[in-house]
Amino acid sequence: MKALDELTFDNRFARLGDAFSTHVLPEPLDAPRLVVASEAAMALLDLDPAVAQTPVFAELFGGHKLWAEAEPRAMVYSGHQFGGYTPQLGDGRGLLLGEVYNEAGEHWDLHLKGAGMTPYSRMGDGRAVLRSSIREFLASEALHALGIPSSRALCVIGSDTPVWREKQERGAMVLRMAHSHIRFGHFEYFYYTKKPEQQALLAEHVLNLHYPECREQPEPYLAMFREIVERNAELIAKWQAYGFCHGVMNTDNMSILGITFDFGPFAFLDDFDAHFICNHSDHEGRYSFSNQVPIGQWNLSALAQALTPFISVDALKEALGLYLPLYQANYLDLMRRRLGLTTAEDDDQHLVERLLKLMQNSGVDYTLFFRRLGDESAALAVTRLRDDFVDLAGFDAWAEQYKARVARDGDYGEEQRRARMHAVNPLYILRNYLAQNAIAAAESGDYSEVRRLHEVLSKPFEEQAGMEQYAQRPPDWGKHLEISCSS
Ligand code: AMP
Ligand code: MG
Repeated sequence: MKALDELTFDNRFARLGDAFSTHVLPEPLDAPRLVVASEAAMALLDLDPAVAQTPVFAELFGGHKLWAEAEPRAMVYSGHQFGGYTPQLGDGRGLLLGEVYNEAGEHWDLHLKGAGMTPYSRMGDGRAVLRSSIREFLASEALHALGIPSSRALCVIGSDTPVWREKQERGAMVLRMAHSHIRFGHFEYFYYTKKPEQQALLAEHVLNLHYPECREQPEPYLAMFREIVERNAELIAKWQAYGFCHGVMNTDNMSILGITFDFGPFAFLDDFDAHFICNHSDHEGRYSFSNQVPIGQWNLSALAQALTPFISVDALKEALGLYLPLYQANYLDLMRRRLGLTTAEDDDQHLVERLLKLMQNSGVDYTLFFRRLGDESAALAVTRLRDDFVDLAGFDAWAEQYKARVARDGDYGEEQRRARMHAVNPLYILRNYLAQNAIAAAESGDYSEVRRLHEVLSKPFEEQAGMEQYAQRPPDWGKHLEISCSS
């Protein structure tokens, strides 16, 4: 276990130089205080969890203090936002403080979001508000606990610093961790500004640090792109299987590591709705729940375009062709498991599609349906779940098909079925209304609800005593909440 001053830095991205990022110091928050910390994320840095309670922790992550070895940098990038190219985005409010490596030899970027203005702030104030910082913290740690690749969050630091959005709010900072903060938009920036040397340096950097095994391949850059395609196909299959809607899948929010990255007005589905749009400024539904699948491919094509100086167009096209079949295979595999199936049959896709259609038409809670399906034998479970459906004849027909399929799958006991299904079907997810409750309390100075919710979501598959209220469908006020896009 380490104390805070014992972290070991090795700032590899900073060493790429000024074409890639600019040295900027964090702008301190007034009266910084700990809102919430993740012990699991602290453990990745070998940090003693007790240090979160010391004043220096809030000072470090509230922008007041820095390690001597930290080299805070604002990264430059660009990207396609809602389909249109924005030539220069860059980090307008986040600083890469430095890269830390732990005792296992893993490198973690320490990134402070809401750290004040940078040369890339454009019209922005460089700040992040408490509510969006809490949402990013809870979502990153909750996704990780569900087994969905994501950036991590070490802590949220609150403050008295006034920040103007639709109304006056308080500034906060979230300390984000990832093995890399390089986005598709980094490659696009150097491609569209026609800086081939820098682009080659960036590609070498990513290849050496994050895809070293691709070096062994005859065409290392192509192998790396293929790997990025595969990771994204797997990631989006997980989002779709677990009902996660990202909301702002711009290419500047897509990580070259294929992890969930940059949280805005995201949501987990309550009722199943394939057409759900969590971002209320997304009028055309470009980033609706079901569109995440084709948009994943669209974003990979934007990255492919930026890689044309290194890889032939034919090879890029072929690699892009891997996306959809891989997505489908991964998605179907996850959905089979969610249904408690251990074998594969040709008609399984149809079984899943029919179920989702019935759920869509009846507004069935997506998470609780699968959890309850595993509570008891297939025959008993479908009898109990039947009442949630409007089209009873349709559900009965599906239930017959499902029971027959389960019978063909194997003869295992109820106990085994429950354990297997509960291990993949969470009881607790980050419902928007739960986040909203925690945020409302935190905005009035009470951080206990954020901390409790974080705790509950860190073990989403385990039934936790006294936590029944976190495993309920939303109350009326909590359905279809409009989450502000300002952050
Ligand atoms: P996002 O929509 O959060 O992914 O942000 C898109 C870009 O705008 C990123 O480069 C952000 O750093 C930048 N940005 C967002 N909010 C602010 C802000 N309040 N001040 C400065 N830059 C911002
Ligand atoms: Mg972003």
